[in-house]
Amino acid sequence: MARGVVPRQPARTGRQDRVQKVRVARARPAKVSAPPKPRQKAAPKPVQARASKTKGYNPVAPERVAEILKRLDQLYPDVTCALTHSSAWELLVATILSAQSTDVNVNRVTPELFRKYPTVEAFAALTPEQLEPDVRSTGFFRNKSKSVVGAAKKIVADFGGQVPDEMDNLLTLPGVARKTANVVLGTWFKKAEGVVVDTHVHRISRRLELTSQDDPQKIEQDLMRVIPREKWILFSHQIIWHGRKLCYARKPKCAECSLENLCHAADKTWSTVETHKGAKA
Ligand code: SF4
Repeated sequence: MARGVVPRQPARTGRQDRVQKVRVARARPAKVSAPPKPRQKAAPKPVQARASKTKGYNPVAPERVAEILKRLDQLYPDVTCALTHSSAWELLVATILSAQSTDVNVNRVTPELFRKYPTVEAFAALTPEQLEPDVRSTGFFRNKSKSVVGAAKKIVADFGGQVPDEMDNLLTLPGVARKTANVVLGTWFKKAEGVVVDTHVHRISRRLELTSQDDPQKIEQDLMRVIPREKWILFSHQIIWHGRKLCYARKPKCAECSLENLCHAADKTWSTVETHKGAKA
């Protein structure tokens, strides 16, 4: 053993107690102070971030909705339904045929169809199978033939050959749901009973954050709440035209859109404003 290195012996005076006290004193700060600090610091950060992100922004605030409507009026001042028709019955048939098809496609078929069967009674006298070849090119022609012939028979039997102008009665016709009924009521009878929700209105209302719903009936309810009633008919025509001209399902032409700085859709192709996931169509 080297000189001077001698194992310590317990002191009779109790000096070893002092050594123990020092060890305890060193251990305390390590155990007590370390864990709580990160918890206290970490908690407030996300709360502050969330608050600043959402503060003051309401997508359906009346001023924002009014600005959207104003710009739509400037973009599409005199638009109406693009389906060719000259009576409520013709509009009803054209709207039934337009499901899963384009207005251009339907307009190719209907002039000859209405020349061949000029009245609702003429349609009521058909079987669905007889009508199928005439509407085949619009797609889903078996179901559409059933709906058109079924609607004609019911209109002749229950409504004296006249297309009813009440929502409840229209909804009793085969193949007629709220979208078709709203088209006929708004465009032909000029009655604002609801908002037409087709594929364009569905997509663009979500992009503009006028609704976050995905079900057409719930979207319509949301739109009826935020759009003034006197605008219901024109608004759906304008949005349908906007969907055809600029706000495509894929690659919308955002750089040419005058609603751009009001739009936070996540799938915009060009943007001067922050986009939000929730606004994605
Ligand atoms: S900015 Fe783009 S996504 Fe938004 S409404 Fe206009 S075209 Fe549609």
